Amino acid sequence: MLLDQSIIAGIGNIYADEICFACAMSPLKRVDTLNIDDCKLLIDNIQAILSKAIIAGGTTIRSYTSSLGITGRFQLSLNVHTRKDQLCYRCNKVIIKTKISGRGTYYCPNCQKE
Ligand SMILES: [Zn+2]
Repeated sequence: MLLDQSIIAGIGNIYADEICFACAMSPLKRVDTLNIDDCKLLIDNIQAILSKAIIAGGTTIRSYTSSLGITGRFQLSLNVHTRKDQLCYRCNKVIIKTKISGRGTYYCPNCQKE
């Protein structure tokens, strides 16, 4: 749902991964199981993470694009995206990568519960 531009525009898979991680929510969680508190948590983290990313990109004097297509300094503060097989910063378990709707998706199966 976070990647469905007809519902909410502007979130790519990098930010979708980071938003789900910040919410401690599995990217596999079905939207029709979200309660009002889950929705509020999502909205708060969408705003916080996109704001942080805009500031990081906007303050880069010479922004650059990595081989992963990540532009600007925000990539230095990624908590879960591109961290396959590395330890979760929150619980120290292993981050996994899966595919959801054909998109590479990174998450911690221990602390991001469905
Ligand atoms: Zn974790």
